[in-house]
Amino acid sequence: MGRNTHQKQSILNALTSLRGQHPTAEMVYERVSQTIPSLSRATVYRVLNGFAEQGAVAQLRITESGYRYDDVMSPHHHLLCDVCKRVVDLTAPQFETIPLPQEDVSGCQIRGVELMFLGVCPECAAK
Ligand SMILES: [Zn+2]
Ligand SMILES: [Zn+2]
Repeated sequence: MGRNTHQKQSILNALTSLRGQHPTAEMVYERVSQTIPSLSRATVYRVLNGFAEQGAVAQLRITESGYRYDDVMSPHHHLLCDVCKRVVDLTAPQFETIPLPQEDVSGCQIRGVELMFLGVCPECAAK
């Protein structure tokens, strides 16, 4: 396995180990540097971007703190917690039946729907 492939696999493993947390690139970098301390921050950012361009991971533009990464590629929605700003996966049957318009809307061609719900995550709700 080449060095590049090894780096990419380690970055993907780090992302998978953070599944459900929708980590920033910085969080992935911190995790992967525990196993490969020599890996540069720039490499991690570049590889994550590449994964997103290939459609291997989702890049969420949710908060002003930058992209969040998600290796869960099955369709799902997100809730941004008002309190801790965590991004939580949301799935419910009624979210899967939101009808998409068949014709262009405001000149836009719509290919899917990904909703951002606002509220409070289970941990914060329990406090
Ligand atoms: Zn919360
Ligand atoms: Zn998600």
